[in-house]
Amino acid sequence: MVYGRITGKIVIIGFTAYLSFFATLGLQRDESVQINSQSQMESLLKIEKEKLGCDRNIEVKLLDPLDFFFGGRAQAVNDDKYRITIKRGSSLTTLRHELYHVCSGHLKSSSNPLTFPFYFLKYLFWEEPAAEIYSLTGLKL
Ligand SMILES: [Zn+2]
Repeated sequence: MVYGRITGKIVIIGFTAYLSFFATLGLQRDESVQINSQSQMESLLKIEKEKLGCDRNIEVKLLDPLDFFFGGRAQAVNDDKYRITIKRGSSLTTLRHELYHVCSGHLKSSSNPLTFPFYFLKYLFWEEPAAEIYSLTGLKL
């Protein structure tokens, strides 16, 4: 079906444009403060948590830049403890991005495997853009 193929192509083009937009925003991270030590990251976390009004229990971990790891990562260790991992040399916007995921409750919605397809769409079209917009502009959506 030609109609189906064309629709498929439009969806793929739209999706690629959408992802490229956020990849471009990501490049601007290089202009902000670089995080180079564990203690620097811990004091930045404290400041950024206050800005967000976030009192969650969060530990931060800095990885060697040679570790195979892309950007930053936020995860729930258990019901009331979270971990943010970023690479040494990453920017403050990376930390802000991951912190926003934790403090806005984004990680809780991923815990139920039955709702995974819904979660994935929510992550892609709401949580990820919201975290990116916050990290770059300070705007809380
Ligand atoms: Zn994210």
